[in-house]
Amino acid sequence: MSAPTAQPASTGQDEPVIHILWINAGLSCDGDSVALTAATQPTIEEIALGALPGLPKIAVHWPLIDFECGPDKGADTFIEWFFKADRGELEPFVLVIEGSIANEAIKPEGYWTGFGNNPETGQPITVSEWLDRLAPKALAVLAAGTCATYGGIHAMQGNPTGAMGVPDYLGWSWKSKAGIPIVCVPGCPTHPDNLSETILYLLYQAAGSAPMIPLDEALRPKWLFGATVHEGCDRGGYYEEGQFASEYGSPECLVKLGCWGPVVKCNVPKRGWINGVGGCPNVGGICIGCTMPGFPDKFMPFMDAPPGSLVSATASSAYGGIIRRLRRITERKLDQEPKWRRKGRELATGYAK
Ligand code: SF4
Ligand code: SF4
Ligand code: SF4
Repeated sequence: MSAPTAQPASTGQDEPVIHILWINAGLSCDGDSVALTAATQPTIEEIALGALPGLPKIAVHWPLIDFECGPDKGADTFIEWFFKADRGELEPFVLVIEGSIANEAIKPEGYWTGFGNNPETGQPITVSEWLDRLAPKALAVLAAGTCATYGGIHAMQGNPTGAMGVPDYLGWSWKSKAGIPIVCVPGCPTHPDNLSETILYLLYQAAGSAPMIPLDEALRPKWLFGATVHEGCDRGGYYEEGQFASEYGSPECLVKLGCWGPVVKCNVPKRGWINGVGGCPNVGGICIGCTMPGFPDKFMPFMDAPPGSLVSATASSAYGGIIRRLRRITERKLDQEPKWRRKGRELATGYAK
C-alpha cells in the first residue's frame, strides 16, 4: 500500500515518514507475504495505519497488496518508490527482502530474478542489483523467510541458480548505515507474528524508542528464537515419560516419526500459528527444521527419525517408564479427596483451638 493511497492521516506538515520497501522477487513463493496477512500481534493493518502508540508515520510499498502499477518510470508507479530510494530521495526506509538471492554472476546471458525494468536498457533489474543499490542507503535490511535469510529450498544441493541468503550475499558482518546488522526472520514460511513483531521493533528503533535489536549468531531476533521447538511443545511431557507415537493421530511425542524439535530454534509451538492456535508438533506435524540455516538439506530425508534421536529416545523410554509408573502411584493418591470432607457432628479437619 504505497503512499498516497493507504497512508494514515498526517498529523503535521513535517512529520517524518518511514518507508518500507518490500522486494518479493527473490527466488520465492511469496509465502512470507501471504503469512504476514495472518499476523495478529500486531496485525499488518495496525502497522501500516499507524494504529499503535508511539509508532511513526509509515508508508508500505509491498507488492502483495499494492495496487499501484504502470510503466517503469513515472510519478505514480509502484516501482518509482524504489528508484526514488536509489536516488537518495526516500529517507529513511527499511528494505525487506523475500526469497533467496540468485547468483546472477553465473548467468551472463540472462537473469534468474527481476523486479521492475531498467528504464535505460528496458531490461529487468535483478534482486542482487537492487541489493547493491539499496542496501547501502537503507536504515535496516530485513530478510523475511528462510529463503531470504539462509537460502532455503532454492539453495538446496544441486540447484542451478547458486541461490543464497541475504547474509551470504552482503556478508554476515554487514551493517546498515545506522549500524544495524541484517535482521533475519526465518521460517518457511515465517511465523506471521514473528515477522510483524520484528518489523514493529525496527520501526520503534527507527523512531528512537527502542534499543539496538538483539540478534543471535544467525542474526535472528533473540527473544523469538532463543528456545527450541521441544522446549515449547505440548508433547514434551510424553517425551519425558518415554511415550512415542509410532503412527500419526497419536497424542504422543513424534520424535520417532521424524520430529527434529529438540534441536531446532523456533517458537511456533509456544506461539501457535494464527491467533495462538496451532504450532506444528502441537497439532500433529513433525518439525522439519524450517527456521534453521541448514534447512532443508541437513534435515532430509524428512519423516525419518533424526539420527541422534535413537539414543535419547531409548534413554527416555528407560527412565521415562520408571518415572511414569511412580507418577501414576502419586497421581492415584492425588486423585482422591482428603478423608475429612464428610458429614457428621465432629469436625475432622484437624483444626485446633
Ligand atoms: Fe516460500 Fe518458504 Fe521461501 Fe518463504 S521461505 S519464499 S515460504 S519457500
Ligand atoms: Fe519434542 Fe518433537 Fe516430541 Fe514435541 S513432538 S516433544 S518437539 S520431539
Ligand atoms: Fe518450522 Fe519446526 Fe518451527 Fe514448524 S516447528 S515452523 S517445522 S521450525
